[in-house]
Amino acid sequence: MIQQAKRLNKRSDSTTQQLNNTMNRQDEFKKVVAHCKEYGFIYQSSEVYDGLSAVYDYGPYGVELKNNLKQYWWKSMVQMNDNIVGIDAAIFMHPKVWKASGHVDAFNDPLIDNKDSNKRYRADQLIEGYMDKIEAKINKEIAKAAKRFGDAFDEAEFRKTNPRVLANAEKHAATAKRLATAMTNEDMGDLKAMIEEYGIACPDSGSKNWTEARQFNLMFSTQLGNIAGEEGKLYLRPETAQGIFVNFSNVQKTTRQKLPFGIAQIGKAFRNEIVARQFIFRMREFEQMEMQFFIKPGTQDEWFEKWKEKRMQWHTSLGHPAEKLRWHDHDNLAHYAKAATDIEFDFPFGFKELEGIHSRGDFDLSQHQELSGRKIQYFDSETKENYVPYVVETSIGCDRMFLATMSNALVEEQVPGSDNMRDVLKLNPAIAPVKCAVLPLKKNEPGIVALAKKLHKDLSFSFNTHYDDTGSIGKLYRRQDAVGTPFCVTIDFDSMEDQTVTIRDRDSLVQERVPMERVEEIVKEKVDMRKLFS
Ligand code: ATP
Repeated sequence: MIQQAKRLNKRSDSTTQQLNNTMNRQDEFKKVVAHCKEYGFIYQSSEVYDGLSAVYDYGPYGVELKNNLKQYWWKSMVQMNDNIVGIDAAIFMHPKVWKASGHVDAFNDPLIDNKDSNKRYRADQLIEGYMDKIEAKINKEIAKAAKRFGDAFDEAEFRKTNPRVLANAEKHAATAKRLATAMTNEDMGDLKAMIEEYGIACPDSGSKNWTEARQFNLMFSTQLGNIAGEEGKLYLRPETAQGIFVNFSNVQKTTRQKLPFGIAQIGKAFRNEIVARQFIFRMREFEQMEMQFFIKPGTQDEWFEKWKEKRMQWHTSLGHPAEKLRWHDHDNLAHYAKAATDIEFDFPFGFKELEGIHSRGDFDLSQHQELSGRKIQYFDSETKENYVPYVVETSIGCDRMFLATMSNALVEEQVPGSDNMRDVLKLNPAIAPVKCAVLPLKKNEPGIVALAKKLHKDLSFSFNTHYDDTGSIGKLYRRQDAVGTPFCVTIDFDSMEDQTVTIRDRDSLVQERVPMERVEEIVKEKVDMRKLFS
């Protein structure tokens, strides 16, 4: 249920993307993926063995960027809020945790196999694919009319009156409704019936020879060494949140926090996704940054709104343009949820969930209280009452944040004043993997090299600095642009005479001559994460 209700919501207000944009965006996506590999941000896991599907490793630049994103999140949650504390719970938890949370019984996706190709699919995604095709027909019709009527074209009117558009819109709405009902009722029979009725074929083989649809639990399981059978069955956590819920009383008592207060955590989560696509968007092993905010029952609407606002601000402060972010409220709520909304990001493959904000009521704490038999409550010293607090949660995938950041930052542009093109990663300097590169103009000139190495060493105490003398200065600049280094410092013959250097800004390409002793202060000021909070 948890999984199904949420997945449905993703679909209900699908974006009408202009068809002619689709190809460009596909190319854009391919470029981001290729860039990540070429420059050491992300590699396929176990690549020498042809890779492991939907599992990825972060390379030298990737780990720095990911750590910086995590740091930005951690600071904004834990460091900047007196009433939010952090924890780091273990990945393995008592198996009853997952019974209480509902994951054992309901963390499912509907699965269907094609008998001829032996390929496995998510039944709901096959139907969504069919709906995408209907939507594409509508868009094609609109694009054609827009071309025909030029400036006089009124899209809203056309949608309301064109018979073909109306028929397809009706078909789309009816399919969406039927899918929603089948998913909510866990009606596997109707999902299969829809696939057959709509004539949906296996995207791989074109065959329409399908098995029955059945529920597939997304949790990975393993076995404790010293206990045989079901008793020793452990799960790799599918979300980090439960580690926070079961530690609620420990944390509250040891930190003497009063409501409202939050517990934040960054950690790995695992989901055996049936179809894992779109690079690091949907992985089987990924990282989450979650914060559970415990509040007095009755104040949930107010806190839900506050956290919505704060989280959107966190994204825009990093420089993600407002038009690439949007809200998507869930219409069909998971059984525990009182209200839920997603922050969607305009990835190269369209608007998709980046972060979820959920008003969870007292569902999780009450469930753990019931199954553990232990009291998990808060004593309110003002009202002299004991109660189970309510929760507003913010939950963001670190890897999705990484993908959003990379795809937003990667730009191909003409170098001003030249015919050359450059790939530049216009990351906010505060999260750039390398803050400053020190480049000697001549690598065979011992005086220049010694000075550059000394500066590199000095700067390394303050921030991540690279030394590079492996190519011409033009090539070195291009490489630093491609990994998003905001500042490059070149050391030349004059530097040996007057201790001045040239500092180059990645985005404006402005080069300035400054005393060597000022480099640290200049760069430090520009890359300070504090700027993101002001
Ligand atoms: P989706 O519908 O896309 O599967 P979800 O609604 O199941 O996502 P949540 O359970 O709300 O996701 O998890 C919180 C966040 O964790 C998501 O907003 C997303 O950023 C991230 N996340 C979830 N599943 C994955 C995955 N398989 N790979 C990478 N990140 C994920």
